[in-house]
Amino acid sequence: MAMEWLKNLFSVKRAAPPPAVAPGVYHAMQEAEGAYTRFHLRVERDGSGLLIANAAAAARLSPTGVLVAKGLLDGKKADAVLQDLVANFRGATEDVMRADIAKVEGLIAQITKPGDMYPVFNLDDAALSPYSAELIAPLQASLPLAEPEKMLPILDKLWDAGIPHVTLLAPRSFDGTRLVRAIEHAEDLGMIAGVRGRASDLWNVDLLTAMTQAGVDHITFIYASDDPAVHDALCGAGDHAAATALLAWLEENQLCAVAELPLVQTTLYGLNATVKTLMAQGADNIAFVAYATTDVALAKREGIFDADAMLQVAAMVEETADDAQARFIWDPPVQRNPAQSLAEQVQAGPRCSGDVAVRVEADGSVIPPRGPYKSAGNLLQMPWNVIWDHEVFRRYRERVEAPTHCDRCPGLAICAADCPREPAGWAQP
Ligand code: SF4
Repeated sequence: MAMEWLKNLFSVKRAAPPPAVAPGVYHAMQEAEGAYTRFHLRVERDGSGLLIANAAAAARLSPTGVLVAKGLLDGKKADAVLQDLVANFRGATEDVMRADIAKVEGLIAQITKPGDMYPVFNLDDAALSPYSAELIAPLQASLPLAEPEKMLPILDKLWDAGIPHVTLLAPRSFDGTRLVRAIEHAEDLGMIAGVRGRASDLWNVDLLTAMTQAGVDHITFIYASDDPAVHDALCGAGDHAAATALLAWLEENQLCAVAELPLVQTTLYGLNATVKTLMAQGADNIAFVAYATTDVALAKREGIFDADAMLQVAAMVEETADDAQARFIWDPPVQRNPAQSLAEQVQAGPRCSGDVAVRVEADGSVIPPRGPYKSAGNLLQMPWNVIWDHEVFRRYRERVEAPTHCDRCPGLAICAADCPREPAGWAQP
């Protein structure tokens, strides 16, 4: 099966102390075909570890795997890594050790490949499903920005739970020092740290420079349309100009840009042109988030999508991304909340990014990516395994695990996680 490797990521084997690689966090950068991949290797006291590549994938490693990964990331050749293994581990033949090296090389290649950077709509690959892959935790958490006294303990708990990637949600007029502090802390822990916000709120060279120095790994910003009028109607006056400037800065400074593309009628009309513009300007990833409602009259009035229209939206997104060869994320659709204006809801954005993700509120509540807004428990007060096993997550896993393909739109990959026209699978208010 493709990506069989992921099945084995979280099997940790105990090492006889002392560990071959000293406990701590190691950073490395590798270049392949012009693309840079940032790695974090966190080594635990028992010698096991967690290997993280960019904003994409994380792998638990046995002590043997840690030694191999550390050697390879340090630029050692396979023969030199083999000598390290022979010197540090007993009970395995040279052939077995060579096979281990090849396995870790394959693993690094897999998590480095652009196609694997973001687990997107390939949940029909059982290895990527939170349930079948037996993930100990999601790969990513989205956290609304809060004061350090609240944020930092949450980051500690996320890291302890094995969640390797955090996206900090920056509201309007946020305190930049809080954001930089949270990035620094995530970085100190060894986490991948991203930031999501409106371009108008993020486009500040001093802030961007401080975030870069703190180690931010990606910047996600709303890019609704290449038509400034369409974009600004949703994101605020002048935001399109800010988004264009921000994207150029990110490209120039080689920082991963994620464009979050809200899908409503006005942005869908120009989708092809918008995606092409983004690709031409260097956006590394595009995250699509559709705004939907079960109220047909509201859908018509506001130019959003009713349940049936969601099939066409999903098909258009797949076709457009395929044509452009874009790497894209299909965020669980957001159910329209009439208590907010459409622009307010678009600016607030999706609950979290993708399906192997959670949202954690500033009070520690953990919310699954789809379905009713219901906490599965409090990260600050409960062990992670209790939260992960809560019925809210069990029901979520059952939904994404259940086969959703039918004859209606054969070939639509997005529905592997959930049928886009099924409101129970939307992120509900
Ligand atoms: S479940 Fe059926 S109707 Fe829904 S997206 Fe998949 S193929 Fe289309």
